[in-house]
Amino acid sequence: MAGIDISKCLVCREQRGEVVLPGGFLINDDSVVAFHCPPVPGAETPYLGYLFVTSRRHVPSFAELQPGEAAAMGTAIAALSAALKTEGAERVYVISVGHTWPHLHVHLIPRWPETPAEVSWMNVDDWEGARRGGASEVEVMTLQLRTRITAN
Ligand SMILES: [Zn+2]
Repeated sequence: MAGIDISKCLVCREQRGEVVLPGGFLINDDSVVAFHCPPVPGAETPYLGYLFVTSRRHVPSFAELQPGEAAAMGTAIAALSAALKTEGAERVYVISVGHTWPHLHVHLIPRWPETPAEVSWMNVDDWEGARRGGASEVEVMTLQLRTRITAN
């Protein structure tokens, strides 16, 4: 399980623009690239507001970040969490797992207010009323969130 071919890394491919991201990047700088979970042909439509915050460098986890990169990741996570709350999210779950792709990517998952109390945090994107949308809804959400983060 030593490194993988970076040309095949999904996160690197998303950063290089090889995956269609409706509305484009939310953040794209030397340390951080952030974007909405994109619609993928053949997969379920995305949960609206489901964001990824990724390290620019292909490193497996927070442990390999330089201090400046770690600060930038934290700042991005805070700004995007605040933007989701401004859009009406009650909570924003922040998760880093990394079993599938060894390139640091943090999941930001909003809990929208219509979510029944009995739906656990793990299923907030997977109950029958979960907000989902295709490319046009993802684009609208991306543009709204980008406006929120640039306003601060
Ligand atoms: Zn990568």
